[in-house]
Amino acid sequence: MEKKSLPLHTKILLGMLLGTGVGFLAILLNLGPIITNWVKPLGSIFLNLLKLIAVPLVFVSLVSGVSNLKDTASFKRMGLKTLLIYFTTTVLAVVLGLTTVNIIRPGKSFSPEKREQLKAKFAENVGKKAEAAKETIDSKQSPLQFIVDIVPVNIFKSASDNTQMLPVIFFAVLFGIAIVMSPHGQTETLKNFFIEMNTVILKIIDFIMEFAPYGVFALLASLIVDFAGDNISDAISLFSALGIYSLNVLLALAIMVYVVYGTILKVLAKKNYMDFFRSIIPVQMLAFSTSSSAATLPVTMEYCEKDLGIPHRVTSFVLPVGATVNMDGTSLYQTVATVFIADALGIDLTLSDQMTIVFTAVLASVGSAAVPGAGMVMLVIVLNSIGVPIEGITLIFAVDRILDMFRTTVNVTGDIVVATIINETEKEE
Ligand code: ASP
Repeated sequence: MEKKSLPLHTKILLGMLLGTGVGFLAILLNLGPIITNWVKPLGSIFLNLLKLIAVPLVFVSLVSGVSNLKDTASFKRMGLKTLLIYFTTTVLAVVLGLTTVNIIRPGKSFSPEKREQLKAKFAENVGKKAEAAKETIDSKQSPLQFIVDIVPVNIFKSASDNTQMLPVIFFAVLFGIAIVMSPHGQTETLKNFFIEMNTVILKIIDFIMEFAPYGVFALLASLIVDFAGDNISDAISLFSALGIYSLNVLLALAIMVYVVYGTILKVLAKKNYMDFFRSIIPVQMLAFSTSSSAATLPVTMEYCEKDLGIPHRVTSFVLPVGATVNMDGTSLYQTVATVFIADALGIDLTLSDQMTIVFTAVLASVGSAAVPGAGMVMLVIVLNSIGVPIEGITLIFAVDRILDMFRTTVNVTGDIVVATIINETEKEE
């Protein structure tokens, strides 16, 4: 009799639960180094595999998606619509973050002693983050620099750096459009080549997903060990010191997912959001475990096509762009964190400061790379814009890694929601 294996998402969930359990157990039994030396590498291999396939996937799938369009006008319409909806959802996220943090005001519940304790504990690490952020700010003298950076000077250089997705997207779109506009019949072989390449890459993603349950197991076990060091009670006490802040971020993220996305889906795409969420759970679990929208991208694309039935010409453009620029979870978190830090440091924010936060958090989230911790580096820009000392990041450092998992899940969910809407509206066109 053939053995029936568990569905993949159940296996991934088991991997996550076991990984968390083993992580805690290792700390209790003082076996942290064993996890770091022998289990963590499995997680790193899994992440490497996802990153390995990301650039070829984005390039090949965009070229094949664009080159099979009948005309470029439809691409232009879809492109503009996508950017507009991405911008709108990010603004909604920021406004939601700002509203909840102004009601809850977690920074005010923070005792001065705890503040000093946390600052001292993480001062060194924050120095490094602040330097990284300063470099980002210094290297972008013109406000338009981010647009300049989209146009690569050397495509191989951009393609060799996973954080530079936009230049690769730019080149792929250019390449695809050139194929469409070439004299009829002269680029058929090339078109077919990209379609076949795409099939092969999707097969590789299937292989990688077979490994996912073990990958997430290793990622979570090592994350817990790294996070807590050998002292779990220290970690828990830090988390509870920052409990109201963390709950504020989590609550606002939950409202974003269930209320805002739920409503948008219902109104614009006429979708039942329970069905929708059920079918993207594996993608969310992966976003949660990897804390990286870029690493999750190959799987996001595959699920959108296979499970949600969104056609390749939509996913191939909307999702890679979304993974890079649309970070609703990150922008929301940056807003809450900024007000929290300002309150904790006793800095009063005027209405115009709050407006500045809206503006800069949208930009900072667009500028955040789709990798773990990037949102916190870019938070420096938001803090700077309203004159809050960046050392304030020390206050939230302890829980940032955990919150990163949740905000990444929201970032990826947001991309899928927008892809669904674009698909529905494109159908009507
Ligand atoms: N880790 C997030 C992502 O990849 C970015 C962030 O740090 O907020 O989407």
